[in-house]
Amino acid sequence: MKALVVERKNIKHNLKIIREIIDKQDKDDNGNKVKIIAVVKGNGYGLGLVEYTKYLIENGINFFAVATVEEALKLRENGIKEDILMLSSTSVKNDLEMLIKNEIIVTIGSKQAGDAVEEIAKKMQKKVRVHLKIDTGFGRYGFIYSKRDEMVEEIKKWENIKIEGTFSHFSIAFYGDGKESREQFIRFTQCIEVLKMNDIEPGMLHMCNSSAFLRFKDMHLNAVRIGSAILGRLSIPNVWGFKKVGYLKSNVAEIKILPEGYNIGYSNSYTTKKETKVAIVPCGYADGFNVKVDKDMFRPIDKIRYVVRDIKNIFKKEALYVKINGERCKVLGRLGMYHVTVDITDKNIKINDEVEFEVSPMFVDSNIIRDYI
Ligand SMILES: *Cc1c(COP(=O)(O)O)cnc(C)c1O
Repeated sequence: MKALVVERKNIKHNLKIIREIIDKQDKDDNGNKVKIIAVVKGNGYGLGLVEYTKYLIENGINFFAVATVEEALKLRENGIKEDILMLSSTSVKNDLEMLIKNEIIVTIGSKQAGDAVEEIAKKMQKKVRVHLKIDTGFGRYGFIYSKRDEMVEEIKKWENIKIEGTFSHFSIAFYGDGKESREQFIRFTQCIEVLKMNDIEPGMLHMCNSSAFLRFKDMHLNAVRIGSAILGRLSIPNVWGFKKVGYLKSNVAEIKILPEGYNIGYSNSYTTKKETKVAIVPCGYADGFNVKVDKDMFRPIDKIRYVVRDIKNIFKKEALYVKINGERCKVLGRLGMYHVTVDITDKNIKINDEVEFEVSPMFVDSNIIRDYI
């Protein structure tokens, strides 16, 4: 049986690092500590939405953010009563009704969304809690920063909407010298000033995701939205000692000895050089093994670098490894959809021994059990 193993102690360790960074420097204008909004989108980054959220609650987190209506409702259905912010603005009335009925804090990032929420709030006779989203240069959700007067006009019409927060999102916080992020930050603070000039209280301000939180200490504002750092999976060099959370485990299903000159796997890309003892493990790329996000090719120079690297890989045939009983073993031949063949020549490995695969939890099939240890 396969499982994605989730190490509780590593989550705790990473939260401690995040809290230490906050404790060291951050106090907002009223002397309040910067709040952690834990982002649990994408099935809790693969750790299992409900179980992961419950574990974070046990560890003192009380504000969550999700990216879809489904995730928000699933948390409520499972008895989670904490604040939940739906990060994506939507003008779809059905979706908004579901969110509002379930006491989800909705994001408003357009006139249409604002009008829809106002209409629903009036109908339900309730004050709806919202965060405003400002698009400071991402081109996705939010009122466009340069058209802030239109945003102000829209907000002034609201009677049943309670603004509890205002936020924006960086597009390139993980790369370069931070020039673009600083520009986005300035655009954001200018919008906040305009809101205040119009007697609109923007509530809790937040802009940073994990990389921005770790790199731009002067941009933390009132809250930070942390996802990947809690899993210790950063897109910037890890100089803080975050520990990776999550690995896939399976077991040796078969052991056999292949003769010399024998093919292994599809497309006949590997032939044994000598008699080879192999273990067959029922786990492959469909389970998430060796599935990665291709690095963004965001600059022409990087494009060239990646192409060069890919060519190198063809010649080098970079090997893949798994761990069996804690020992590193090489994968032979092409990785299969649900199977790998592993070289265990001269190793004392038996049927049913545990095999450990390095994976990004996000790519591990959500049907695979999450085993919290
Ligand atoms: C995913 C997401 C985050 C968290 O990003 P990490 O880099 O994983 O910390 C924060 N804010 C928004 C709007 C997001 O979509």
